[in-house]
Amino acid sequence: MKRRTKVVATIGPASSDKEVLKTLIKEGVDVCRLNFSHGTHEDHIKVIKTIREIIDEINYPVAILGDLQGPKIRIGNIKDNKIMLHSGELLIMTTKDILGTAEKVTITYDTFPQDVEIGERVLVDDGKIMLEVVATNRKDEVTLKVLHGGVLSSKKGVNLPHTNISQPSLTEKDKIDLELAIKYDIDWIALSFVRSARDIIELKHIIKKSGKNIRVVAKIEKPEAVADLDDIIKESDAIMVARGDLGVEIPMENVPLIQKEIIKKSMIHAKPVIVATQMLESMIENISPTRAEVNDVANAVMDGADAVMLSGETSVGKHPRAVIDVMNRVIMRIEEEYDELYAKEIEPVKNQTRFVTDSICFDACRLSERVKAKAVVTMTNSGYTAFKISSQRPRARIFVYSGNQKLRTMLCLVWGVKTFYYDKMVSTDHTIEDIKYLLKKDGYLAQGDLIVNTASMPIEERGGTNMLKLSAIE
Ligand code: PEP
Repeated sequence: MKRRTKVVATIGPASSDKEVLKTLIKEGVDVCRLNFSHGTHEDHIKVIKTIREIIDEINYPVAILGDLQGPKIRIGNIKDNKIMLHSGELLIMTTKDILGTAEKVTITYDTFPQDVEIGERVLVDDGKIMLEVVATNRKDEVTLKVLHGGVLSSKKGVNLPHTNISQPSLTEKDKIDLELAIKYDIDWIALSFVRSARDIIELKHIIKKSGKNIRVVAKIEKPEAVADLDDIIKESDAIMVARGDLGVEIPMENVPLIQKEIIKKSMIHAKPVIVATQMLESMIENISPTRAEVNDVANAVMDGADAVMLSGETSVGKHPRAVIDVMNRVIMRIEEEYDELYAKEIEPVKNQTRFVTDSICFDACRLSERVKAKAVVTMTNSGYTAFKISSQRPRARIFVYSGNQKLRTMLCLVWGVKTFYYDKMVSTDHTIEDIKYLLKKDGYLAQGDLIVNTASMPIEERGGTNMLKLSAIE
């Protein structure tokens, strides 16, 4: 598929059947997301195994992203699963496990009475219900005044945008889910409710100790994360604009600006960005999207997102296949016509350790633009040049060759990157000629097409990229 912007699809009951999943992948899903907030380990293991069977059958890679729930706070169970909260009334939240009533409900946050301050806002069910703290016994109960009432049912999410939450970012549940992700060596791990770059450093430390090379996505959905954005981008391998919770934690009218800021800053650091949540929400029920949703997907692509994400649309929705079709059509249309997507010319920073490699990637893309080359081709052992070349957004296609299959699956998230397996190491000249021959034979390039190759010389040292070559397909 020639589409450059990647599609992440959350896998759930509507998409985990092997035939359905295979169809979705063949239609264009690049990354399968497992949401650890839902489902059992048994369910997730089954999906991981199914994806790997499909990869073997179709013979091209698809990435797996595991999304850790993080310190998500919820209301406990409620009697008859429904209470009505009226504006102006008082409600007690207790840390004890009780069956909730209109007077008192459980909150799954042990230190809530200690952490909270009088006057702070508490938002429930994506902000549909708004409360204000009027008292706390600093032990196990907080009294709140209902500012905006509504119907409250069991297990609804709670957001505390102003509270200094003392819970660790990586909960006990996350640690158990992370063990599964490590055991099955998935490609990406996303961490929810990241508050600072330290959360990412801690997660990466655990992954490193395991000996696995799982890349980390920071989900930006807290005001603290927006404040620490620069350092979070530096420490993470990718970023997610988690607009669902973000739009509850900060005024929702700020989200479009933050989406643009995150994408712009991440591109400078060559870190892929996923734009997530409610992209084609109405298609959970309906066969076609609203015009506003089509505009939202198109605008995320225009902003420069590496990937757009589907949640309920593919995990529990009625029309997962139609959803992927809409994504394909909208993305392709924008990529065909919207010139500002391409040729970003992000200058490499001098005196960086990778300045030589960064400069080669920069010039490879600039050269490809000037001579209207059809492809920029790189060999990579670590993936670094693939990230760097992609972040320049060349109009030429990005073909990445690697002898590491795991790297190929991981790179499925990165804008424009198409990978091929290649493990011959004769010489740089031989490799370039061989790759040109293969690209022509397989129909990716035709006689006369110009191609820019980057490589590391001498090839056997497997060092940093230090060479650039422009040539034509014979
Ligand atoms: C979000 O809040 O936008 C998000 C992606 O997180 P989750 O779907 O895990 O709640």
